[in-house]
Amino acid sequence: MLISHDVVIVGSGAAGLYSAYWASTKADVAVFSKLFPTRSHTGAAQGGIGAALGNEEEDKPLWHWFDTVKGGDYLGDQDAQRILCYDAPQTIYELEHFGVPFSRTKEGRIAQRPFGGHTRNFGEAAVRRACYAADRTGHVILHTLYEQCVKQQVHFYSEFQVLDVILSEDKKKCVGIIAQDMLSGETHTVHAKVVVFATGGSCRNFATTSNCQANTGDAFGIILRAGLPLEDLEFVQFHPTGLSGLGILVTEGARGEGGYLTNSEGERFMERYAPTVKDLAPRDMVAQCMYKEVLEGRGIKKTGKIGADDWVYLNLMHLGKEELMKKLPEISDFATTYLGIKPWDEPVPVMPTAHYIMGGIPTDNDGRVKLNAQGDIVEGLYAAGECACVSVHGANRLGTNSLLDLVVFGRRVGLHVAKNVDAIQLGDLPNNPQKRVDDLVDTIKSSEGKERSGALHKELAEIMMSNVSVRRTHETLTEAKEKVLELRKRYQDIGIDDKGDVFNTNLLEAIELGYMIDFSLAQIEGALVRKESRGAHLRLDGPDEEKLPRDDENWMKHTYASLNDDGNIDLDYGTVYLIQDHPEDGWEEELFEKMKPKERKY
Ligand SMILES: Cc1cc2nc3c(=O)[nH]c(=O)nc-3n(C[C@H](O)[C@H](O)[C@H](O)COP(=O)(O)OP(=O)(O)OC[C@H]3O[C@@H](n4cnc5c(N)ncnc54)[C@H](O)[C@@H]3O)c2cc1C
Repeated sequence: MLISHDVVIVGSGAAGLYSAYWASTKADVAVFSKLFPTRSHTGAAQGGIGAALGNEEEDKPLWHWFDTVKGGDYLGDQDAQRILCYDAPQTIYELEHFGVPFSRTKEGRIAQRPFGGHTRNFGEAAVRRACYAADRTGHVILHTLYEQCVKQQVHFYSEFQVLDVILSEDKKKCVGIIAQDMLSGETHTVHAKVVVFATGGSCRNFATTSNCQANTGDAFGIILRAGLPLEDLEFVQFHPTGLSGLGILVTEGARGEGGYLTNSEGERFMERYAPTVKDLAPRDMVAQCMYKEVLEGRGIKKTGKIGADDWVYLNLMHLGKEELMKKLPEISDFATTYLGIKPWDEPVPVMPTAHYIMGGIPTDNDGRVKLNAQGDIVEGLYAAGECACVSVHGANRLGTNSLLDLVVFGRRVGLHVAKNVDAIQLGDLPNNPQKRVDDLVDTIKSSEGKERSGALHKELAEIMMSNVSVRRTHETLTEAKEKVLELRKRYQDIGIDDKGDVFNTNLLEAIELGYMIDFSLAQIEGALVRKESRGAHLRLDGPDEEKLPRDDENWMKHTYASLNDDGNIDLDYGTVYLIQDHPEDGWEEELFEKMKPKERKY
C-alpha cells in the first residue's frame, strides 16, 4: 500500500518527537516507530540534561562549550558544540513550559547536580549543570513531548519497522521510506518530501550494554546499504557504572550526588588519575582507569580478568537511604532487584557497559544528512539524536549532553523542516521501490538455512565486546574483522522458524542482525585504521601495550565509512571545525587559546 505524508519521522524518542512537534506547526507529519512511542530508549535516561542555567551556582554557556570541546578530545565540530551549549537554556525552558516536571531547588527553580567533565571556569572544579527529575529525567521528557505531539495531531504509525530509505538514483534526493506493519506483516511504501531518521543508539552489538533491545542501529544498516556514509563510528562510549555482569546502568548522577569508586584495597583510585575532579572525570577516562585497576589485580576479586569475573565498587552508603530514595530511587531499585544489594547498606559492584555511539549519520548543523565527506547534502533527508553525528560529542560524549543533543538538534531539525518544507518538491518514486526489501524478506523467509539469528547475534556481541571495546590493539581489531567477516558468510545461511506474517519478530530480528553485522564492520575498520588514542578510542599498540598518543597532525579528522559494491568498507575523511580556523569579529585571542587542542587533564 502507498502511504503519503509531507514529513516522515523514523523514531519516536525525544529527538524524533521534538522534530515532529516543530515540523507539525507547518506540515503534515507522521512518526513511524518500531516501538510504541513512550517505550523508546529516551525513557530509560536517568541522570540529567545539561544546561548552564546557573540555578545552583554561577555557570555560563561558554564554560559548558569549553567542557564539551575538551570532553570530546577535540574531535567535535566546535561550531555545532557552540550551538548545543548556547541553545541549551532556552530549550530547557521550552521543555519546562511544555510541562516537564523537573526536580526543584528550595526557591522553586529547576534543580541541578554535578556530572562528569562539567566544570566551572574552564576546569577549575565540578559545577552543578545537570537539570534532572530524580533519576527519571528521560522518562518525563519523553512523555511530555509525546503529549505535545498528540496535541499537534501528529500521525503515529506505532509498531511499524522501517527497512529501507528511497533515494533518487544519484542519491542527492530522498523520496521516502519502506516500512513493515508488524501487526499484519504488510510492507508499505511511504512517499514523502522529507524524511528524518531519529532511530537512536546501536550498542546491542556489544555483549555488555546499557541499551534496550530495540537499539540495534537499524538506520546505520539502512544508510550503508543505500550507499551513504556513516561518520566516526569507531567511537563507542563505555559508561563506567554498569551493574557488574549485567550492564544495566547506574547513572553518573550517583557520582554527581557524592558516590565514589574504590578498588580491592579500599582506595578511591580516581584521585590518582584525575586529582581535580576525581570520580567526575569524563567517562572515557573513568572506564579506562577501571579496566586498568582490574587488570593490575586491584579489582575486588583480584582475578586480573575483565568480564563478569571482577569489578570495582561504587560506594553510596554514606548518602543514606532517605537521600537515595529521594534522588536516586530507580538505580537503588535496580541494585536491589538485580543484585540483591541495598545501596545504603553495601557498595554496588560495577564495570563499564557499552552505552552510546558518538558517531552516526553525518549531518550539518540543521540536521541535513551529508552525502559525502565534502559535505554535499541529500535533499529532504535529515537525522537527529543519537543516530546522528553533527558532531557535538567528538571522541567522547559528556554525560547529560545526549538528552541535550536530542532536544537542541531535534528542535532545530523541526524548525528547519517547517521553514523549508514548502520549497521542497516531492520526488518521483522509482519503479518497484520495495524491491530491495521484498527480496530480503523473501530470501530469509524461504531459506532452509541452519544458522539462527539469536546464536549469531550472541557471537557478534561477544567478539565486539572482547576485541573492540575499552581497550583495542591492531591484533584485537584484526581478529574482530576476520571473525565478523566469517559471521557475515554464515549469515547467508540464516533461516527462521516462524514463516508467518503476524508479528514476525523472528524475521525482523534476523534483518536487524544483518544491519548490525554491516555497521560493526564499519566500526572495526575505522578503529583499525585510526592509529592513535583519542577519547573512547584507546589503542594500546606501543611496546608492552603502551597507549598510542593522540596524533592531531594525522588524525584530527572525521572518519566517513561506506559500504562498497563488493561489500567492503571504504574510508574517507572530513575536516574538523575548529574555531581557530574560522575567526569571527569580537572573539578574543584568549578564547582561541582555550579551545585549541591540548592534552586533557582533569
Ligand atoms: C540507560 C540509559 C540511561 C541514559 N541516561 C542519560 C542521561 O541521564 N542523560 C543523557 O543525556 N543521556 C542519557 N542516555 C543517552 C540517551 O538517553 C540516548 O542517547 C537518547 O535517549 C537517544 O534518543 P533518540 O531520540 O535518539 O532515540 P531513542 O529514544 O533511542 O528512540 C529511538 C526510536 O527509533 C525507533 N526505531 C529504531 N529503529 C527503527 C526502525 N527500524 N523502524 C522504526 N523505528 C525505529 C524506536 O522505536 C524508537 O522510537 C542514557 C541512555 C541509556 C541507555
